[in-house]
Amino acid sequence: MEPELASSSVLVLGSVAFAVFVAAASHVSLCTRQYDCLSNGDCIVASSSMSAWFGGSCSFQNAVSVTSLELANMSSSASLATMSRGVCSPGEIQSVRSASGLMRCSRQPSFPDAFVSSAGDPSANSFHMRAAGKWIASKRGQKTSFGFFDAESISNLVEDDIVYGFDPRTAHNDFDRFRAVCESTLASGAMAFDASTTYAFLKAELTGLDVLKSVGKLSSYLCDTPVNFASDLNADGNGWVAKAIDGNMFSVETIDSALYSFGDGFFTRQRAREFAETALGASLSDLSVIEASQVNSAFEASVLGSNIDDAVVIGSYTVSFTQDLISFARFLHALGVHGAVHAKAYLRGVNAMCVSAIRSSITGASGLEAPVSAALEGIRKKSNFNPVALGRFEFDVFAEPTREHVAASLSMRPSSLFSFAIVDLPRKSCFDAAKKLFSDAYDKLVFDRLVGSELNTRLTTLIAEMKGRVNTELLSGQTRFLIASEADRTRIASFASSAVVTIPGSEPLTGGLSLSSSDGPVTIALKQSRLVFLDNMGLALDFRSVCELPALMAATTRNAYILSNSNCVWLLPGILVPPLASIRYDQSSLRSRIGYVVAHELGHLATMSPLSTWNWTFATTLMANYTSSTYTEAAADLIAVSSLRGLVSDGELCSHTSQLWAASPAGYGPQGPSPHPVMNLRGDNLCGFVFR
Ligand SMILES: [Zn+2]
Repeated sequence: MEPELASSSVLVLGSVAFAVFVAAASHVSLCTRQYDCLSNGDCIVASSSMSAWFGGSCSFQNAVSVTSLELANMSSSASLATMSRGVCSPGEIQSVRSASGLMRCSRQPSFPDAFVSSAGDPSANSFHMRAAGKWIASKRGQKTSFGFFDAESISNLVEDDIVYGFDPRTAHNDFDRFRAVCESTLASGAMAFDASTTYAFLKAELTGLDVLKSVGKLSSYLCDTPVNFASDLNADGNGWVAKAIDGNMFSVETIDSALYSFGDGFFTRQRAREFAETALGASLSDLSVIEASQVNSAFEASVLGSNIDDAVVIGSYTVSFTQDLISFARFLHALGVHGAVHAKAYLRGVNAMCVSAIRSSITGASGLEAPVSAALEGIRKKSNFNPVALGRFEFDVFAEPTREHVAASLSMRPSSLFSFAIVDLPRKSCFDAAKKLFSDAYDKLVFDRLVGSELNTRLTTLIAEMKGRVNTELLSGQTRFLIASEADRTRIASFASSAVVTIPGSEPLTGGLSLSSSDGPVTIALKQSRLVFLDNMGLALDFRSVCELPALMAATTRNAYILSNSNCVWLLPGILVPPLASIRYDQSSLRSRIGYVVAHELGHLATMSPLSTWNWTFATTLMANYTSSTYTEAAADLIAVSSLRGLVSDGELCSHTSQLWAASPAGYGPQGPSPHPVMNLRGDNLCGFVFR
């Protein structure tokens, strides 16, 4: 954002100054020549004659900048790049922002060689200044980096394109179908009607089920039930287990308001109130031990009848749980006291809360009773992370996903997830809700715009090549002694060659909802929630690979990551754009940029190995130029460039990587403690390694 703001304020200042000047000039009678050029705005009165401004002097001086002359094609010594640079920094060009028509500074395209030579200062002493010294100098202390400065604006442009390039009449996939019916429902003020239809649908889903099975079924729609289910990594981190997690008990006032707003009668509300009061009023010593049969009964109902229920039907799969399920223990206690009729009245309130939560993800809190919105807000605050979609978080560029992120992403409830939308135009509100619900479809839309099949084909080849190179590096390269024993090296190297690198959105969408034209937006959102639940449970119940975990970041994010203790790597489409990748890049540029990123992630296979397996004498010598807190990132960097040597020349490796990591000011990098070295140093040390 920073470069953009800076340049637009320059433009505004320029045009204000220009307007004042013309107004002043038109009030003065001057020599014809002077008058003409002043009227045209391409001269000013010479400063030496300012005192004579009102005295009839005809002297003037040229007011048109060199840049403007170049733009007007009056300079003979310029390239297309310098001609279109205008007020922007070296390495950038002026361009028109498509949606608004405003001028902006954007990265100067450079291909087939990706190195943007106009950003560099060949006479400088340091590697990073040679790679991007002119660009850095022009930033004068702004906090920005060459590889990332346009990440947010590109992400916004792609999103604008998806938001405004949509015509409801041509809606075909679930994402578009949801947006189409959402827009028409919002525009006609029929959201409350649709919510009551959804409420009836969910009520019918529970027909014939006992209390515990009703809990399970509601939980499979991601409703806020007393107990929830999700897949989670097993203790070794190499597979999945189905797990029960503590849910939620609503207060007396909340459950009463929710039932009232859906038109439920006095007796249902009274029973639900009594049930909630008993459950929440019990002291911990009143609660009984939870039986496995109780948890399993609810768990089975969450997946029975779906395409992932085989192991559960056969009886070979049970869910793991602990006695920490306090909400469920309270629920079971109240069930014991009041019986099934009261429990079902309470669960009808959970149904009402579930539909309200989904509705609020589209319309915001408006239209909800105060206790209902307060309860949803309260549950939402339990999250330690910043969720942006079902199973997705917003990550800082330097943040690494953790095991806790994985667990949280697979167990997200809509109410702990959806922020109340700011009431906006239907087009925007419906897009925002669709993006939160249909993460896979959104990724595909982003992938198609940013990457495309041609670049994807080249990347597939490149990724295979990098897996092979890193394997060889770990076995016999310059960095191999980082891991002390040959047995460990061999194991880690084979892990590299069998790594799975996923690019979200690159595969065709499968599955999808069975919808009819009478399904409104709240119903579609509810059905989609269940599809997401079943997809996530399928990781455990279908014994899927750890690498089949859905991406933890949105496709527009300019980042790549490896899941710790696995060989699963994700490249987000947001990183598969210049200056890291482009279909127009030559092979050396592609290898030195995005190839280096892939090799870096695979290099983490060695750095994730316990520190006791490292050869510390070798490590401290190899990384003498790094502080020890950055050793894991430093080692991944050095393994990556070492893997690429011979495939790409040392000069190219150095100039490409140090341009990617060039930043202003000198020490710019992650804020607070981070394993990542500061940016300019990162490039300098890579160059130092290849040229040592
Ligand atoms: Zn890293």
